[in-house]
Amino acid sequence: MPDPALDPSTDPKSLDDASWNVLLNPAQFAILRRSATERAWSGPWLDTTAPGTYRCAGCGSILYEGAHKFHSGCGWPSFFQEASPGALRTVVDRSHGMVRTEMRCARCDGHLGHIFDDAPHTPTGLRHCVNGHALVFVPDGADPAEVIRRHRAAS
Ligand SMILES: [Zn+2]
Repeated sequence: MPDPALDPSTDPKSLDDASWNVLLNPAQFAILRRSATERAWSGPWLDTTAPGTYRCAGCGSILYEGAHKFHSGCGWPSFFQEASPGALRTVVDRSHGMVRTEMRCARCDGHLGHIFDDAPHTPTGLRHCVNGHALVFVPDGADPAEVIRRHRAAS
């Protein structure tokens, strides 16, 4: 099966749910492909401060830089900006009786989390509240494909 995280020539938008279900672990599938939200404080990367990049667990696209992460105390990894313009796309989410800005990976359209403007102490004032299971942290110098493969195998 073509794997967009390991083979950059694969168009991840061409994959159907059955393919994603094989590629991703259950938590990753529920969040990226079903827009689920992990319970606060339950996901990975909350305390990660090492230099590196946070990649989409589905397609490997670089979504965030470690330098843009901050401690929000909200229970999910938080960033004040995306790694580069166009890494994300946003949509208005009217579920659960709220109007929120949802963000999705621009490359594979996987659900990531929501953006809130309640972080006045950051350079942008924004809090990108991201499900940890939607991300894989790749430390500087590590092989992204290898790290992503290892995290998908963990449930
Ligand atoms: Zn993606």
